[in-house]
Amino acid sequence: MKNNKLRITVGRHSGFCFGVKRAYDLASMNSFDCEKLYMLGKLVHNDDVCSELKKKGIKEIKRLSDIKDGAIIFTAHGVGPDLYEKANRNGLRIIDTTCPKVMKAQRLAQNFAEKGFQVIIFGDKKHKEVKGIKKWSRDKAVIVKNIEEAKKIMLNKLKKYCLIAQTTQNVAEFKKVKDYLARELNKIIRESGANAKRMRVNNFACFNTICDSTDNRQKEIRKLAKTCDAVTVIGGRDSANTRRLFEIAKSLNPRSYLIENANQLKKSWFNDIGKLAITAGASTPDWVIEEVQKYISKK
Ligand code: SF4
Repeated sequence: MKNNKLRITVGRHSGFCFGVKRAYDLASMNSFDCEKLYMLGKLVHNDDVCSELKKKGIKEIKRLSDIKDGAIIFTAHGVGPDLYEKANRNGLRIIDTTCPKVMKAQRLAQNFAEKGFQVIIFGDKKHKEVKGIKKWSRDKAVIVKNIEEAKKIMLNKLKKYCLIAQTTQNVAEFKKVKDYLARELNKIIRESGANAKRMRVNNFACFNTICDSTDNRQKEIRKLAKTCDAVTVIGGRDSANTRRLFEIAKSLNPRSYLIENANQLKKSWFNDIGKLAITAGASTPDWVIEEVQKYISKK
């Protein structure tokens, strides 16, 4: 029987973030006038999006050496300078959809590495975005995923350090790493008898390159999970930001469900509830969110 009392709230910060939407639109626009159009890796971890792009004639490749001509799309995560050089050398047309926020982190890594700083990236070393940023630091950046790893860096008072972050990292954890490095560098300099204040200013640069899109989404689901009877999180199971949203929702509301699309919904989840919250990861397109909403409303 249909639950007429059910009220559905779709989070304002659900679905494609600005960078992914821009990348999807740029890829779609170029699919009209490119005969041979390839994408290096997945645009996002979402099967619905990948099959839509395939329908537009965009083929996914794993490495640049897989193709000889045509146009190559670099995804929103960005790539290192080596791949731009290689694509140019091979005469490929580049469609660059790198998110401007990721590009900012890349430029900082490049500039500070050129000035002789040791770049430290707060992030996941296996993530495509982090691998790309590291390449811009002349491939010399140290990557730390938490404060424990930051503590393993052998700090040197004669060296200069620049800390930046993967755009989807946690702000609170980043602050812990930043505070630790600032404190330790200050201590080393003080113990050496040098002018601590002056050296610290010159020796440590820190840039919070974390994107507020991730933070806003997580803040919103925290509120909704507490005030609604159940939560549906939509997104790919391989998508790290979707999994994080689901973990947050589940920790605050046991009736939280993770689905990839409307086909995975179960009627019994919504029979006896009054308020349902829907949120979605940054890789989930609007059309999938709308399908889920319509499906539940009809139940
Ligand atoms: S999460 Fe932020 S930085 Fe990453 S692609 Fe989206 S808008 Fe860009």
